[in-house]
Amino acid sequence: MNIHEYQAKAVLKEFGLPVSKGVAIFKPEEAEAAAKELGGPVWVVKSQIHAGGRGKGTFKGAPAGAKGGVRVTKSIDEVKQFAGEMLGQTLVTIQTGEAGKQVNRLYIEEGAQIAAEFYLSMLVDRETGQVAFVVSTEGGMDIETVAHDTPEKIVTFSVDPATGIMPHHGRAVAKALGLTGPQAKEAADLTNKLYAAFTAKDMSMLEINPLVLTGDGHLKCLDAKISFDSNALYRHPDIVALRDETEEDAKEIEASKYDLAYIALDGTIGCMVNGAGLAMATLDIIKLYGEEPANFLDVGGGATEEKVTAAFKIITADPQVKGILVNIFGGIMKCDVIARGVIAAVKAVGLEVPLVVRLEGTNVEEGKAIISGSGLNVIPADDLDDAAQKIVAAVKKG
Ligand code: GDP
Ligand code: MN
Repeated sequence: MNIHEYQAKAVLKEFGLPVSKGVAIFKPEEAEAAAKELGGPVWVVKSQIHAGGRGKGTFKGAPAGAKGGVRVTKSIDEVKQFAGEMLGQTLVTIQTGEAGKQVNRLYIEEGAQIAAEFYLSMLVDRETGQVAFVVSTEGGMDIETVAHDTPEKIVTFSVDPATGIMPHHGRAVAKALGLTGPQAKEAADLTNKLYAAFTAKDMSMLEINPLVLTGDGHLKCLDAKISFDSNALYRHPDIVALRDETEEDAKEIEASKYDLAYIALDGTIGCMVNGAGLAMATLDIIKLYGEEPANFLDVGGGATEEKVTAAFKIITADPQVKGILVNIFGGIMKCDVIARGVIAAVKAVGLEVPLVVRLEGTNVEEGKAIISGSGLNVIPADDLDDAAQKIVAAVKKG
């Protein structure tokens, strides 16, 4: 789960990390009061969307060369003007894709003076099973470019969970940033606090870009992006409360209500599968035969007819879907339950695209009989290979 920058900064502040003062607003009318509360003399007006690259982003429909989604100003009138220009508008950045994202919240911050912009991120490194730090003096800009062109400017190390954060980790961060004396101490203190926040809140990723050295020589987190481990959210009701559903895929939200493991993808073939392994194999084989899956959907082992119906409705509601492949290996899941769920869904919402059904395993004969007796135009398949070829052929024909 992701949260907004202003929420991430509030979390960091709880752990004593240095962030600027700011006020989140939802309406342009709130801009003036927010700016006055902060006092100035410099303000930053920041679009809050779950995507980076806002500074260099552009608003849809704005004149060419119009300023981006993060703007610095010394005038309250401009704070008001920028709020009016940003709220409700669609911001397109390198991370949002062409569709962009609607800006529904702004963060008005007191402006910081920047002497240097650094990069610092932390993530769970699955290879080592440890929390890794990625640090670079080259902050503010696109870290992927730095990694590609000047990889020597990126320092990484990971923290053994058995020892936790140690003084040498803080020194490694200070060294990577070229900081000495009291600034090195600050870097070490920051490292400790970031690690504490990361582990206490079960984060999976924390990115501060830029981490700046201010005009008066202190470190400050000027941007913050946090992702949390969804499997640990039950331990953090305070984090769950920060969820902004308008930022998430509507189909994924609907799926989560039914406890379905659903992830929207870019292709044309909707998939309903039981078991994550079989679902991945299904995605692979669709690609093998030259099409792209529209989603990953694992209905799970003990799905009810209601759950199957909900899953099928989510797939058919996606206008990208040009064909559907139901691929079930009935173990705990019974084929007749799948068949009834599919038919209930088709009766409720109709079926305008080809549907290939491959059933195997528990109650397979009953499941096949239900489908063939339904009068629906279903293309039956014998195995995974056959099913994938049939749906790809049907989609290509259509
Ligand atoms: P992003 O573009 O989505 O990563 O948004 P950031 O929060 O990183 O802001 C983009 C850029 O705006 C930063 O790299 C800074 O150069 C600039 N910026 C952000 N906050 C301040 C500030 O308080 N003062 C100044 N002078 N520049 C800022
Ligand atoms: Mn940034």
